[in-house]
Amino acid sequence: MSRPVRAHIDLPALRHNFGIARRHAGTARLWTVVKANAYGHGLLRCAEALSDTATGNAADGFALIELENALKLRAAGIRQPILLLEGHYHADELPLFAEHRLTPVLHTLAQTHSFVTASLPNRLPVYLKLNTGMNRLGLDPAEYPTALRLLERSANVASITLMTHFSDADYGHAVNGLAPQLARLARFPNPAAHPLSLANSAALLRHPETCAGTGNWARPGIMLYGSAPDPEWHSASELGLRPVMTLSSELIAVRPLAAGERVGYNGHFTAEQDMRIGIVACGYADGYPRHAPTGTPVLVAGQRSRTLGRISMDKLCVDLSHLPTATPGTPVTLWGAGLPADEVAQAAGTVSYELFCALATRVPIIEQST
Ligand SMILES: *Cc1c(COP(=O)(O)O)cnc(C)c1O
Repeated sequence: MSRPVRAHIDLPALRHNFGIARRHAGTARLWTVVKANAYGHGLLRCAEALSDTATGNAADGFALIELENALKLRAAGIRQPILLLEGHYHADELPLFAEHRLTPVLHTLAQTHSFVTASLPNRLPVYLKLNTGMNRLGLDPAEYPTALRLLERSANVASITLMTHFSDADYGHAVNGLAPQLARLARFPNPAAHPLSLANSAALLRHPETCAGTGNWARPGIMLYGSAPDPEWHSASELGLRPVMTLSSELIAVRPLAAGERVGYNGHFTAEQDMRIGIVACGYADGYPRHAPTGTPVLVAGQRSRTLGRISMDKLCVDLSHLPTATPGTPVTLWGAGLPADEVAQAAGTVSYELFCALATRVPIIEQST
């Protein structure tokens, strides 16, 4: 009795993808990255699906950005370590870190200083982030000895792990991939003295050697949700990954379009010949990207078709020329099972990360747990 747009979340697929990450990681432990509401898939739903240590398929820890969400994980009974990827923003957050055993990433000297000078009731593990060329967060080699000395002498520190984040593990436009950043990492004095956390999904899949070594941790995100970190290298299905989110809806109208007639706002699509089109109950207020151009792939009754014209707030239009039996009520898949989000993202000039994170709260979630 409600609008037909739905996001189906396939938790067995999430666990399957986690198993693939586990295989690639060798002996490294895995932070499951659940920032941004588990990339739009639902924080508690995903964390709980990967937290049952009895199954042998549980995350070793959860990594995210938002302190309030870390507290939600603790309130839900999640016992694993929790890593705060940007650490604390203000010293007044640190008592909560201590109380709930949260691991901060420390990425500037000032933040390191504020951590070691806080008065905390117990020691915490910390991550020290090194800048190896991403040039967003992290200490430079000149600052690193000071930070390390502060941490090694601090009564607030239980253990130190060194971390860095790769800008080109998916290669992007860089021919060298990880080599420049690994070379810069080697310039930090004695980086092997502490455990390391280097790999995101792309590095884990493409350069599993970045996980090797005892006590090291990888930080996969996107692959757990079933997308490829670099679809041009290998697609998600080639990597054995299964989509977790399927965004679907239905046709709510079907109409003929005569040659020369236009569709939607600003008439961005003009029919070259007489044709049939369908109107789908899904638009940018549901999280579908407004910038997806005519030709972005969709599935109508399981058959591939394409979008036509501008994406509206609540609707988008699709080509039914080769689908004569499609009628109102015919199912439409926007991405997910049968239509990789990576393909939709590529057509729309973005990445599946952005599609998933943009899923709107008005879209009902159908959770499949077994
Ligand atoms: C988001 C994030 C990850 C996960 O990256 P994916 O590409 O989704 O695997 C890993 N490390 C850090 C620091 C991150 O911010």
